[in-house]
Amino acid sequence: MHSEKQLPCWEEKIKKELAYLEEISQKRELVSTEFAEQPWLMINGCRMLNLASNNYLGYAGDERLKKAMVDAVHTYGAGATASRLIIGNHPLYEQVEQALVNWKKAEAGLIINSGYNANLGIISTLLSRNDIIYSDKLNHASIVDGALLSRAKHLRYRHNDLDHLEALLKKSSMEARKLIVTDTVFSMDGDFAYLEDLVRLKERYNAMLMTDEAHGSGIYGKNGEGYAGHLHLQSKIDIQMGTFSKALGSFGAYVVGKKWLIDYLKNRMRGFIYSTALPPAILGAMKTAIELVQQEPERRSLLQTHSEHFRKELTYYGFNICGSRSQIVPIVIGENEKAMEFATRLQKEGIAAIAVRPPTVPENEARIRFTVTALHDKKDLDWAVEKVSIIGKEMGVI
Ligand SMILES: *Cc1c(COP(=O)(O)O)cnc(C)c1O
Repeated sequence: MHSEKQLPCWEEKIKKELAYLEEISQKRELVSTEFAEQPWLMINGCRMLNLASNNYLGYAGDERLKKAMVDAVHTYGAGATASRLIIGNHPLYEQVEQALVNWKKAEAGLIINSGYNANLGIISTLLSRNDIIYSDKLNHASIVDGALLSRAKHLRYRHNDLDHLEALLKKSSMEARKLIVTDTVFSMDGDFAYLEDLVRLKERYNAMLMTDEAHGSGIYGKNGEGYAGHLHLQSKIDIQMGTFSKALGSFGAYVVGKKWLIDYLKNRMRGFIYSTALPPAILGAMKTAIELVQQEPERRSLLQTHSEHFRKELTYYGFNICGSRSQIVPIVIGENEKAMEFATRLQKEGIAAIAVRPPTVPENEARIRFTVTALHDKKDLDWAVEKVSIIGKEMGVI
């Protein structure tokens, strides 16, 4: 008989790994977060200025979005009951996809259940074993995972380094199917992709170009159609995805492109075929968000004014903001523990911002990532910058 209970080896392995994460200050814990009046939050009973959300235009708390969701529930129910190809394709889908296509000036569009699923699904559906993916090193994790799932050759070029990308393109055979993929606004550095150059390269090397507008949709372009729209490059980009989960205030994602591309995704994308359609409420929010974002350009300009002011102030105090030019403003701290301590001290002062650590960012580039929204007051931002700079000085960051 066994006298001592032996731990199964997988349990030991997992516990060891958790202990290791703890040791290197990378173990994550969930904290309960309640929304107060925007842009304030309640974390553990303390009221804090929210500099951590992707609710860039404030639509997550908007009464009109909430009403659209409630109305959709009353009309169509709580759940879609099946995937879209079975019987889950409730009438709101067609309305939202039509609004999407008009807004993005695209031939066709498709709603996908989340941004993560969109990147996983689109990339793994379009590419397979003998194809090649060229991906910016700072692209979102969902793009990396899509590339892995596709089993295509996955080449990562140095962040925004077009010479590196071109060298990689030159090396591969002209026959291979190629996809260049990039975030338009990078989620950790807050800088932009060089879309004009990427279009030039994709044309020269006969590749497809895919953009992820998760942090661009709603924010850039005359009608908030995204950063590609701002540069008038929408028609040159083969596959544009974006999300409704950030500036558009609710949840879910879209992809737009040529009709044949969207038809193909409907027929082959497993995450679309084998997953239940979105609840009607989400479609209600999407439809209203697409309308509001076009009707309310003043929110975009307010966001730009606030972001520019915030970046300028932090730079003035001597922080390294990683070349940010958007509403995403990181300050580089360095070591993981130091970034964690910085975030804790910010919380004590009433500021909610997150420490971003490897593997999300490179080693020794742990940072505090601030996100500015249209809802902030200039005086609140100034108050936050003052606190940030005091902590920065005390901790020897500036
Ligand atoms: C947030 C994000 C996603 C994922 O979108 P979800 O709708 O949250 O799943 C994809 N790409 C980028 C660049 C993102 O920032």
